[in-house]
Amino acid sequence: MSGTEPLFREDSYLSTLEARLVRVEPDGGLVFDRTNFYATAGGQPGDTGTVELPDGRHIAIVDTVWSPDKLDVVMKPESSADLPEPGETLVLHLDWARRYKLMRMHTACHLLSVVCPYPITGAAVGEEESRVDFDIPEAAADKAAVTAALMELVNANHPIAIRWITEDELDADPGLVKSKNVKPPRGSGRIRLVTIGENSSVDAQPCGGTHVSETQEVGEIHIGKIEKKGRENRRFRIRFGSLPPA
Ligand SMILES: [Zn+2]
Repeated sequence: MSGTEPLFREDSYLSTLEARLVRVEPDGGLVFDRTNFYATAGGQPGDTGTVELPDGRHIAIVDTVWSPDKLDVVMKPESSADLPEPGETLVLHLDWARRYKLMRMHTACHLLSVVCPYPITGAAVGEEESRVDFDIPEAAADKAAVTAALMELVNANHPIAIRWITEDELDADPGLVKSKNVKPPRGSGRIRLVTIGENSSVDAQPCGGTHVSETQEVGEIHIGKIEKKGRENRRFRIRFGSLPPA
C-alpha cells in the first residue's frame, strides 16, 4: 500500500488539483490517490476548502489529518451526508487565502529561529498569530530588535527551497535540528530540508510544512509579545502588520 501522494510537499502553490477518490472512511473522511491539502503536523494546522463534484456541487472540507498509519491523508467533510462514491475524479479546491497566510506565518517561524538561534521547545502556526517557544536561560530579547532583524530577512528577499537529504547526511550534521523535543520523522530514508538563501546561506532545517518561495512574500510582521513560560522558556508571538507604537 503506497498511500495518498502528498503533492503539497513538492508544490505548496497547488491551490486546485484533480484527484481520484479512493475511499470514504466510516466517519465520512475522504481519502484520495493524491492531494494538495496539507494534513495537520509539525505545528501547522490541516487545510480547509472544498471538493467539487462532477455536478458542480461543492463539499466543504473543515480539516485535514493523517490516517493513524500515516500513509493516507484524510480530508474531513463538514457533513457525512451525500458523499461521492470511490472511483470518481473530483476537483480539490484549497481555501487559498487561509493557506497562504499559514505559509507566510510558517516561513516567519523559520526566520525567527534564525534571529533567535536557541533550541525550540514548541511551535504553533496560526492564520493571525503564530508562536515559537525557545529555551533561553537569560531573557535578553527585545520585541523591537527582534522585529527589525526579522524584517531585514524578509526584505532581503531570500529564496526558499526544498532539498531532500538522506538520514545519514542528517546524522552527519546534527546542528540542522533546532527542535529540542521533536526529532524529524525517521524510517523513510530521506529527510525534507527547507532551505533559506542561496546554498542555504541563511538557514536549513528539517520540516514537512508549507512555506512561501521568497522571504518577501512573508510581508510585514512583528513580534507581538515575548512571554516567560517557566524558568528557561520564552514564548514569542508573531503577528502580521507593523509593530504598534509602544
Ligand atoms: Zn517549516
